[in-house]
Amino acid sequence: MLDVLIIGAGASGCFTALRLKEEDPSLKVAILERQSHALQKVKVSGGGRCNVTQDSEDVAYLLKHYPRQHKQVKGQLKAFSPNDMRLWLKHHFVETVAEADGRVFPKSNDSQEIIEVFLNELKRYNVPIHYNESAVSAERNAGEDAFHVVTQTGNDFHAKRLVLSTGSQEQGYRLAESLGLPLTPLVPSLFTFCVKDDRLHACAGVSLDAVELTLNIPHIAKPFKQNGAFLLTHWGVSGPAVLKLSAQSAVELYASKYKATLFVDALPTQTQDVTRLALLGVQAENHKRDVKNIKPHEALPWRYWELILEQLNIPLDKKWCDVSKKELNQLVEGIHHLALAVDGKGVFKEEFVTAGGVDADGLHLQTLEAKHHAHLYVVGELLNVDGMTGGFNFQHCWASANAAAVAISSSF
Ligand SMILES: Cc1cc2nc3c(=O)[nH]c(=O)nc-3n(C[C@H](O)[C@H](O)[C@H](O)COP(=O)(O)OP(=O)(O)OC[C@H]3O[C@@H](n4cnc5c(N)ncnc54)[C@H](O)[C@@H]3O)c2cc1C
Repeated sequence: MLDVLIIGAGASGCFTALRLKEEDPSLKVAILERQSHALQKVKVSGGGRCNVTQDSEDVAYLLKHYPRQHKQVKGQLKAFSPNDMRLWLKHHFVETVAEADGRVFPKSNDSQEIIEVFLNELKRYNVPIHYNESAVSAERNAGEDAFHVVTQTGNDFHAKRLVLSTGSQEQGYRLAESLGLPLTPLVPSLFTFCVKDDRLHACAGVSLDAVELTLNIPHIAKPFKQNGAFLLTHWGVSGPAVLKLSAQSAVELYASKYKATLFVDALPTQTQDVTRLALLGVQAENHKRDVKNIKPHEALPWRYWELILEQLNIPLDKKWCDVSKKELNQLVEGIHHLALAVDGKGVFKEEFVTAGGVDADGLHLQTLEAKHHAHLYVVGELLNVDGMTGGFNFQHCWASANAAAVAISSSF
């Protein structure tokens, strides 16, 4: 009989095992993994560099990056912060580096370094990972305070405590449901937006460093807003501001079948009055020049400026002296409020997560133990928690794993 069985050898499952053994090395712990390798998402994370956490100890700041679950993660983040993870890694000889935008990576820029540390530590603690063993059923042994887990190969495992860390795998949600855990609907998060507009083709690859995006979704009264870098592609829009917006509005966009209107403010730190004055100045000084050749602000890329002119049906070779007052006002609108019709969800290969999952209502938040099923714990992405890009999703894995491990070790 095992003390603890963990289903899923991803970031959250492996870290739960490590923290358990650190708390109490005498515990008999094992992990089941349906694939032939552990930590496969860590491997591909952050473009192979693994954005392991965020460079902030400000809980209020961190919480802003979990759009729907502030209360759910607060205690866990306080108990195990980004710096705690960096110290844990340092203690295991992995140096980390924070980038200007707060993302933290191993100094080696190689996710494999994290994987090796985890696997070496698990080996040192004698925690076996049973590969190619997909848990298909889990139930409490009749009359016994223990769980009985059966895998697709027919092997079975008995354990006093059970941890579910199956990420966003369908089978994991079914296991959780079969154990009576409530689920909130699953919807994708962290995706790019498709925009069906042929004019965008000419702008593919154009990026703006700092825009403000406003997303209006039909039947949703309050628009969603985000700031940040923005990228135009062949099929739509991408970049950090779009990803953050997708996380914030994941549930509402899913309900609208990914139809919405996106407004782009290309100069958000400048008022519309200042933009109007800049346009009047350009016009006064460049009477005989084509509009396409003189733009009112250097932060507007040339091709983006042309997109604005095309959207407003202002001929590119129109002379500045022929631009009417009405057209000047339209240009102000185009710069601060360019409308793009969102029509679908793009596929973002760098990072995507699933929003929804095991609902907080079914768990004690400090310990992540099921309220109606003693000794059953849930960690990581299987929970109804999803963060924005920037290391917030892994940080939730570390913090939830820590919370469960501390609770489990003190429950014996
Ligand atoms: C391409 C990509 C890049 C990313 N980059 C980053 C990043 O840089 N920073 C960041 O913070 N987040 C990133 N994320 C998100 C992050 O990877 C996830 O939040 C995190 O991996 C979730 O960890 P987890 O352990 O909960 O689930 P997972 O990593 O999905 O692990 C679950 C494990 O359980 C196994 N499993 C499932 N069902 C069963 C079963 N029935 N029996 C046995 N085993 C089972 C799975 O095979 C898997 O190994 C990225 C995601 C993707 C897809």
